[in-house]
Amino acid sequence: MRYYSTRNRNDPVNFAAAALAGLAPDGGLFIPAEIPRYPEAVKSSLGTMDYRDIAFETIKPYVQGEIPDSVLSDLVHSAYPFTAPIIPAGDRLVLELFHGPTAAFKDFGARFMARAFSYLRRNEEKPLHILVATSGDTGGAVADGFFGIEGITVTVLYPKGRVSPLQERQIAGLGGNIGALEVEGSFDDCQALVKAAFSDGDLRKRLVLSSANSINVSRLIPQAVYYAAAAGRAFAGKTDSDGEVTPRAGGNSIAADRARYGAAAGQPATMCVPSGNFGNLTAGLYAMEMGAPIRGFIAATNINKTVPDYLANGKYEIRPSRATISNAMDVGAPSNFERMAAHWSWEEMRRIIKGASVNDEETRKTIALVFKEYGYYLDPHGAVGWNAADQLANAGVLIAGPLAVLATAHPAKFAGTVEPITGPVPIPPSLQQVMERPLMAETIPADISVLKEIL
Ligand SMILES: *Cc1c(COP(=O)(O)O)cnc(C)c1O
Repeated sequence: MRYYSTRNRNDPVNFAAAALAGLAPDGGLFIPAEIPRYPEAVKSSLGTMDYRDIAFETIKPYVQGEIPDSVLSDLVHSAYPFTAPIIPAGDRLVLELFHGPTAAFKDFGARFMARAFSYLRRNEEKPLHILVATSGDTGGAVADGFFGIEGITVTVLYPKGRVSPLQERQIAGLGGNIGALEVEGSFDDCQALVKAAFSDGDLRKRLVLSSANSINVSRLIPQAVYYAAAAGRAFAGKTDSDGEVTPRAGGNSIAADRARYGAAAGQPATMCVPSGNFGNLTAGLYAMEMGAPIRGFIAATNINKTVPDYLANGKYEIRPSRATISNAMDVGAPSNFERMAAHWSWEEMRRIIKGASVNDEETRKTIALVFKEYGYYLDPHGAVGWNAADQLANAGVLIAGPLAVLATAHPAKFAGTVEPITGPVPIPPSLQQVMERPLMAETIPADISVLKEIL
């Protein structure tokens, strides 16, 4: 597959170059020259295929000629010992994307990216050095994804005192090839430090530097997989049963919900996506173009509603972000919008995507309501998705077929918000173990010369 910058269609590169570079040299984002289609045989069996097999079939055309089939097969098996179950709640479905090690959907992208990077750099002598600035979730997923991966060192920069204790242990509790720097400053300071490091000629001579943020095309593509798997299962009228870690209160059976939901099978699904930088929703659009049975999307945001406003009035206006309780979506200038706009016009987007924005009060009310009605614990991000779907229904927007709300994080990750509403949230064993890790971060001032010395 050839990849172009969103800003220049003349200089295509291959997957390895696009993935290892992250951002294109002209500041654009890499996009595939074309979105491939699933072969008919794959399309018709998405509902029954194993998650790893769907991952293999989805990613294959994007890396063909660069990652051999046998390597790709090993890679997806190693990246995904967990899957993305789809659970009925009332007459909706919840697509649970939090069964990975850091309990948020970013595990799906980060774990594939880490293994792909390691393979693509297998013949290089110098280790690859990845620098990431994080406000919380990305750093944890990247640290965990790359932990123990050969030939790669990671340094995560996070703002001191502004990530949760759990997030801090996910970033700074691993050691080994994962370095953690606690910066005396804000997330913007962390980001400025990473930018300064990338443009430092001296550092660039000594180290092979790369980034791992959400604009990387190797993080985006594997996120198309769970859309295809979920839409395929919904189309086939299948759902998954409650796993050990599904956050549902005892005594609430899903059997009744499954009966209520059953009628929607045999139709393409609408996916409701809690969004910030819009990488997740862009991956969904790719899955739909590839032929997964998807009717359309709901772009659910908190009050940082740049994209819903664009869908409504055609004007794209970026703004400073505002703090909310769904803080992984506090984005006023969604970086993946440039990728969406490169493939789809405003008219096309409006046809496929409905937008809705949700404030903190509505988010809290939704957590309470879904818990009361279905015994299901939503995290604040998933609750934004649920409420956005309610808003559209109340406005008379007809959504035919199955409606799946993406639950992007486990509610225990946001216990501080969820527990005052629902009472204690069951904590999955993986998160419990993380809390026992020692902290191994080094504290630094927001000063590039100090960062240079450490690197
Ligand atoms: C990152 C994140 C989001 C936003 O995803 P985008 O791809 O940036 O739109 C939503 N929910 C959670 C829990 C996240 O960590």
